Amino acid sequence: MEITKHLFINLSLMIILLFIGLIILEKSKKFSLSKSSVIILFIVTIWLCIQFSYAPVSYARFDLRIIPLVLGGLYFGIGPILVAAIIVLRSLYGINIGFWQTLALYLPLAFILWRLYPWFLKQAPARRICFTICTGMIMGILTVFGMTFKDVPVNLIDAWFAFLFIPSLGIGIISYGIEFVRKINEMQQELIKAEKLKAVEQMGAAISHEIRNPLTAASGFVQLLQDDYLSRQKRKEYLTIVKEELFSAERVIQDYLTFAKPSLETFEELNVKSELRQIINILQPLANQNSVEIITDFSIIGFIKGDEQKFRQCFVNVLKNAIESMPTGGSLYVSTEYSQNEVTIKVKDTGVGMTSQQLERLGEPFYSTKGKNGTGLGMMVVYSIVRAMNGSIWVESEIGKGTTFHFEFPTISIKKLEQTGRV
Ligand code: ADP
Ligand code: MG
Repeated sequence: MEITKHLFINLSLMIILLFIGLIILEKSKKFSLSKSSVIILFIVTIWLCIQFSYAPVSYARFDLRIIPLVLGGLYFGIGPILVAAIIVLRSLYGINIGFWQTLALYLPLAFILWRLYPWFLKQAPARRICFTICTGMIMGILTVFGMTFKDVPVNLIDAWFAFLFIPSLGIGIISYGIEFVRKINEMQQELIKAEKLKAVEQMGAAISHEIRNPLTAASGFVQLLQDDYLSRQKRKEYLTIVKEELFSAERVIQDYLTFAKPSLETFEELNVKSELRQIINILQPLANQNSVEIITDFSIIGFIKGDEQKFRQCFVNVLKNAIESMPTGGSLYVSTEYSQNEVTIKVKDTGVGMTSQQLERLGEPFYSTKGKNGTGLGMMVVYSIVRAMNGSIWVESEIGKGTTFHFEFPTISIKKLEQTGRV
């Protein structure tokens, strides 16, 4: 049972590798590997097989290298590369009759796998799995025939069992794993597509609602303005309405444009403190209108990388929401903290707060509780800008008490700033 035992050890090693691979894929949330990492992974597997092979005599090594070879060749089209790797690796263990047999068996196989690869990928998943298993069996049979020629002192029943059963089992398990990952990958792609379509649909709905409504209202009032006998007072009133309606249509377009272009155009060093000061200056009149007192507490330094315009837009949106959440007055705290790796910005209001359901929907396009006065695009823009700046957001809120937004952005190291003379 020596061969069976060794092949089972080989198989366990491969399944452990497969499992580790799956965990890495799951963690990276990508479910796809670059071609070079696939090649490295398969060569390492082949090397492990050869290393842990059964060598009853110095010129023969029995192992499951056929599994990575068949799977790599058929699923990833890297058969010739893997055969070259097998030949090089096998030569390190001695150039003897076993080595020449390896050459004789694997060189034609490299060619066959390479030709089969395009055809193989077009098959249905279940057929692919059956095909790999059959290939494994054929290779197993050839190996045992090779053994008889070489006159290796092994138990032939053991050899037949080991080479018919174990490679096909291993190939079956692993190709099932590969198909599984492929399916998840496809599903993920479809989901992304569906999400995109949904966003486009919602955008269409917004354009008809949020832009068409003010435009219709504005054109209605323009028609009224055409009346020659309209009093000055009325004329002024209508013009104000038209202006407001056009302004609200423009606001939707502005918010949408920022969202549609979330990638940052320029990456410059931003001084968080002075940026926030400027934003607060812009919003001071709005705060005064709502009797909101703005209290700041900024750390001395704090530099981050990002696009100035986008950064301003992001915090204007957040601070505006905070002020709007306190229609009868309150306090707005804006503070920053600086640590070795990140700059934290905290925006705290004493406004109406949000329920947990509202919190969950925050950042969803067109989610607004402000009716005609809101676009529901502000927070969506905030999330997309923060994401583009590699930052993160965390929100706490209690209804009736207020809301706190925590932002974290990676900082620029002080050393680098010293070099550029900024500190
Ligand atoms: P809009 O301000 O146009 O309504 P936003 O995307 O900026 O759209 O905000 C979405 C919703 O999130 C708001 O309508 C409001 O209900 C909620 N919200 C955002 N910030 C706050 C806050 N600081 N306090 C309470 N509610 C908030
Ligand atoms: Mg808003």
